[in-house]
Amino acid sequence: MRSLYGKFLSFTTGIMMTSAVIAFLVVNTYYHQQLKGQNDAKNMNIALAMADYIETEEPADLESYLRTQAALGYKLFIVNDNRDAHMYGVPFRKENLRIASVDQVLDGQLYHGMRDLKTETFMTGFFSDELANTVGVPFTYNGKTYALFMRPDIKMLFTEVHFLLGGMVVVMAIVSLLSMLIVAKKLIEPITKLTAAAKRVGEEKFTGTLDINRRDEIGQLAQSFQRMTEKLGENDRMRKEFISDVSHDFQSPLLNIKGYANLLMDSELPEQERKNYAKVIQSETERLSSLTKQLLLLTSLDQLESPLKPINFRLDEQLKEVIRKQRWLLEEKQMSLVMELDEVSITGDPSFLEKVWENLLSNALKYTEMGGEIDIRLSGGIDDVKIAVRDNGAGIATEHLSRLFDRFYRVDHSRTHEVEGTGLGLSIVDQVVKLHGGRVEIASVEGEGTTFTVILPKL
Ligand code: ADP
Repeated sequence: MRSLYGKFLSFTTGIMMTSAVIAFLVVNTYYHQQLKGQNDAKNMNIALAMADYIETEEPADLESYLRTQAALGYKLFIVNDNRDAHMYGVPFRKENLRIASVDQVLDGQLYHGMRDLKTETFMTGFFSDELANTVGVPFTYNGKTYALFMRPDIKMLFTEVHFLLGGMVVVMAIVSLLSMLIVAKKLIEPITKLTAAAKRVGEEKFTGTLDINRRDEIGQLAQSFQRMTEKLGENDRMRKEFISDVSHDFQSPLLNIKGYANLLMDSELPEQERKNYAKVIQSETERLSSLTKQLLLLTSLDQLESPLKPINFRLDEQLKEVIRKQRWLLEEKQMSLVMELDEVSITGDPSFLEKVWENLLSNALKYTEMGGEIDIRLSGGIDDVKIAVRDNGAGIATEHLSRLFDRFYRVDHSRTHEVEGTGLGLSIVDQVVKLHGGRVEIASVEGEGTTFTVILPKL
């Protein structure tokens, strides 16, 4: 069986069987090392007591005395000096007593078969029902010498208590096996549920909750899995939204270009209109180009590995350069600019940070009326630097502030005027600043102006 349940089943049975074998080996070794000698000595004492009784009491009917002893649970084998043998009790399974051993006892020595018999197999000598596995003592009766060999009749001695104990072990084994099967089923149930849930996620179905209420490791795994599924679902939704936003943002300039290109085909078109249409096509193409650049920049920021190549550079100089590039726009809109820049060096990626200042400055320019004011301040602290870009333009209503960094999010300023934009600028600002370990704060009052403050760690 390849299932976890099947493996558990075979492992449990395997472990139970192995432990039974090990237990048997341990007990067997213990028997050979300790019990064998003791058992031999105990039985030797009994045999000697029997011999002593026969010799001192001289029972009138030796036969009946020996039969009585056999009935008490012993196997007795008597040999007289003519080598006539007699068995009392259930016969031995194997009659393998050597003649030499018989002679030795008839000569007056003791026979320690229970102690000295070598058992070839693991079966304990305790159970091997052989004539050689006995103790032997000599005795004299009516002037004749006899050899008495004996061992307990294990079958007879196996009383109800032994059966009860044996039964107990079997019942214990069955009950523990069955309960382990039930426990295993309970343990494996949530894994089956998790597998089904993982399959659903694999099919991009991110809905549904896992019905696993446990506090153990599997419960924690289920919780993490649930969180992961929700996150994946959220990402999936965002990805689809993003694609639809991108398609939409590409679609409208393309439609404009197509429309105006059709109009341009008219050879009768007056010169002025032709120029106007060409201008629209040009500006729409620029829009598409900047959209593509911004998307590429965002994609590079989304990489798992940070795209930043940090160096130490003068931030005030970079800000001056960005302002210099946009000065013509400031002049075109007749705006005044106040600059207060401390001499500050930071460690960061200048090419990405340049995009931050460009976006903040161009937004301030875009969303401020002709003749407005822009104020740029750079102040250096011990651990961080602050860059504040303030304008006295349109401002942003409070309800928009939380979504301002979302991709493609734009505030409708149509009440004042329509401004070109993609809704990607601030999300680029936010992501670049975050990659540098900093944050962006916004303070804005609708109709009065906005301040974007970027706080960057120096290192
Ligand atoms: P875009 O400017 O291309 O629309 P941004 O991501 O740069 O996209 O900005 C998102 C929105 O935030 C803009 O549509 C605009 O409404 C608002 N915004 C950004 N900067 C300012 C600002 N300085 N003053 C007023 N509104 C602003």
